[in-house]
Amino acid sequence: MAAKQPLIISDRNQMRKWSRMMRSQGKTVGFVPTMGFLHEGHLSLVREAHRHTDVVVVSIYVNPGQFSPTEDLSVYPSDFDGDVRKLMAVPGSVDVVFHPHNLYDYEGTNKKKSTSMINNVVVLSCIEQKGMGHETWVRVENLEKGLCGKSRPIFFRGVATVVTKLFNIVDPDVAVFGKKDYQQWRIIQRMVRDLDFPIEVVGSAIIRDSDGLAMSSRNVRLSPKEREQALSINKSLLGAKSAAANGQIDCNKLKNFVIQAITEAGGRIDYAEIVDQESLEVVESIEAPVVFCVAAWFGKVRLIDNTEINL
Ligand code: AMP
Repeated sequence: MAAKQPLIISDRNQMRKWSRMMRSQGKTVGFVPTMGFLHEGHLSLVREAHRHTDVVVVSIYVNPGQFSPTEDLSVYPSDFDGDVRKLMAVPGSVDVVFHPHNLYDYEGTNKKKSTSMINNVVVLSCIEQKGMGHETWVRVENLEKGLCGKSRPIFFRGVATVVTKLFNIVDPDVAVFGKKDYQQWRIIQRMVRDLDFPIEVVGSAIIRDSDGLAMSSRNVRLSPKEREQALSINKSLLGAKSAAANGQIDCNKLKNFVIQAITEAGGRIDYAEIVDQESLEVVESIEAPVVFCVAAWFGKVRLIDNTEINL
């Protein structure tokens, strides 16, 4: 049987109409937001979505609102045709690929530059830098502060805002996010609860290459040497997890072990934190379910990974 060809929609009104039509036929809509350059991690989210809903929409959109002007928006990899082929190879394929050109282009609105303040610092995203006139942002005030939020102060504001926009356009019943981006998943869950979105948010397990490296669209930018060095993240996280299972519940000791392993391998640590799975607050010893989150640079590539520890 030939693989189902997804409908490709780039217009937001057409997207909304399609979802309403599905709903009027009694079908439930699943949604997987992505920035494209798809790999097995993304495809696992599509499979998960199929387990929950009748039809599935995948969005492919690199969101300028979450990149600061100094970050890697311009080098973010893309391969739209390849992505569609990969989606068609998933059992059940997908029903729609939503591929908007620019979600911040508001025809007829003023294009005046806007600036925002976060923690009393003026911050510009790529959108604000280009002066698109967008000035409404969604913030999940506490969950966005730690971990990735420390070194990327506008990142989660951009994520929460674009996901809100996508939710309003795609209007899904269920949305699937990867636990690879653990803080992002928790932030979206909280946002959905706090703002009463009628959407179930599902978290899906991290997919890894056979050598243990968490799959990421950014991995293609690693040199072979950096890729080898990057294995230290998952290896040391697994080491910490088994040490915890054997009774080592002192978080400083566990963190030092991971920091040392990654640094010795040639990585530069952004953060290594053990946090409560729900509140994402840093803990000193493991008494309740935690997640050990790491971000580290290998050359010019920043990778993140994590492991849940449930003793
Ligand atoms: P991105 O395209 O990087 O924005 O990711 C889109 C979605 O795919 C997010 O929910 C990510 O958490 C998820 N994702 C990315 N990599 C993986 C992975 N290795 N395993 C599971 N989910 C992933």
